[in-house]
Amino acid sequence: MKFIPEKYNIPDEPMKPFIDPEEIWNYINNTKSTPERVREVIAKAYDKKRLSLEETAVLVNTTDPVLVEEILNAARDLKKKVYGNRIVLFAPLYIGNKCTNNCTYCGFRTSNKDALRVTLTDEEITKEVEALEDNGQKRLILVYGEHKDYSPEFIADNVRLVYGIKKGNGEIRRVNINAAPLDIEGFKTVKESGIGTYQVFQETYNPDAYAQYHLGGKKRDFNWRLTSLDRAQEVGLDDVGIGALFGLYDWRYEVLGLVRHTNHLEACYNVGPHTISFPRLKDASSINAPEEYVVNDKDFVKLVAILRLAVPYTGMILTARESVAVRREVIQFGVSQIDGGTKLELGSYSQSKNEDQNLNREQFMINDSRSLAEIVEELIDHENLPSFCTACYRLGRTGEHFMEFSVPGFIKRYCTPNAILTLSEYLVDYATPQVQTKGWKLIDKTLGELNNQGNPVEIRSRIERIKQGERDLYF
Ligand code: SAM
Ligand code: SF4
Repeated sequence: MKFIPEKYNIPDEPMKPFIDPEEIWNYINNTKSTPERVREVIAKAYDKKRLSLEETAVLVNTTDPVLVEEILNAARDLKKKVYGNRIVLFAPLYIGNKCTNNCTYCGFRTSNKDALRVTLTDEEITKEVEALEDNGQKRLILVYGEHKDYSPEFIADNVRLVYGIKKGNGEIRRVNINAAPLDIEGFKTVKESGIGTYQVFQETYNPDAYAQYHLGGKKRDFNWRLTSLDRAQEVGLDDVGIGALFGLYDWRYEVLGLVRHTNHLEACYNVGPHTISFPRLKDASSINAPEEYVVNDKDFVKLVAILRLAVPYTGMILTARESVAVRREVIQFGVSQIDGGTKLELGSYSQSKNEDQNLNREQFMINDSRSLAEIVEELIDHENLPSFCTACYRLGRTGEHFMEFSVPGFIKRYCTPNAILTLSEYLVDYATPQVQTKGWKLIDKTLGELNNQGNPVEIRSRIERIKQGERDLYF
């Protein structure tokens, strides 16, 4: 698939900054949201075409409740059409919270003298991963502060270690990374360890606001961060995740910033981001963040729906920063991945006691502390298919190939069958009898709805093989 380049004030060139705040504000201030225009834009999104900045501005400027409802309904429908009813599950694993940066909103910032600094040893990582495997996790994201101890070699060693840890039928099949931007050599080193996605959130796409929050360390350099995922692409690490930390600046601007970043990656590398994250600012130890840009729940739902429509092919991640109620609500408007059983305190997965959160040991407050088992059960109850699938990146369906996601049939051929197979493994290995009963029922229903493109006969035969003890079967 080739993308048609769009003309911007700053032309897209690999590894060159591309954000022009004036241009983004111009789109927001000068784009009208009429019913006709909103419906035209929705129709384009339904066609699974990525929206331009101007079209995204039409949606962010929509305040008429009737039209907002149409946007939400469209996002809900598009999610079903593109992603089916599956939700991919993962868990974050914090490896180290030493940090030389001074991001005012983060509990790990260097000036926070209350923070207890910990870096997990190999033995501790092993214990943590075994505990995660005992719960049924298959996909992890390793998270790091920015510190000379967390070099690309260190990260790559951690990744190899994690892949090697097996307990019973447990294994981690995909390790993603959320860490500081690297140079080209660094990305190469980390790529070679076999990671899935490398995530770097820009936090805010407004350089002036960015300067106010990032007071020390390498992270002060807006453009080094902005171009980081270009450097990843340069070494063939084509599976990248972008994000903005909502609450630092005007949410409408950030939505356009994320779309502009998407367009840049498409224009330079012919591939958009694999995932978009939209964390909302949460309490942290001695946090220092403004009231002005707090995003309320209503606007949060709306911005998630707009992102779903604006970049129909991308994965959308909603984390346990959000409350159970917000997660239940927002999931339907386009989310494709959530974390489950999340614990942020370093080393806490392997501790049996479930203590209250101590913010001096964590980056920020989480608001959904349910176990993976509880989340799986709720997803099944709501007819969402929990998935632990890791097939695409292991079969090389990443980057440009992943963009085939928008080709009709992809979900039926791969995603739904792989969700069914990985859920089958989970049911056999980790679920209670009650969840097993509900899970098999949902699998049966889903199989009944798959036409031959999804190959239900072959899936049923593989489920039998899983019941007989085979593991890791995928399409
Ligand atoms: N240190 C690396 C960095 O800053 O890119 C990666 C890890 S950082 C621990 C991961 C993300 O957490 C940040 O990019 C930021 O968006 C988010 N974060 C930081 N403080 C937060 C807070 N108080 N509430 C919610 N999210 C926060
Ligand atoms: Fe460090 Fe990342 Fe926290 Fe900033 S957001 S203080 S870089 S861990």
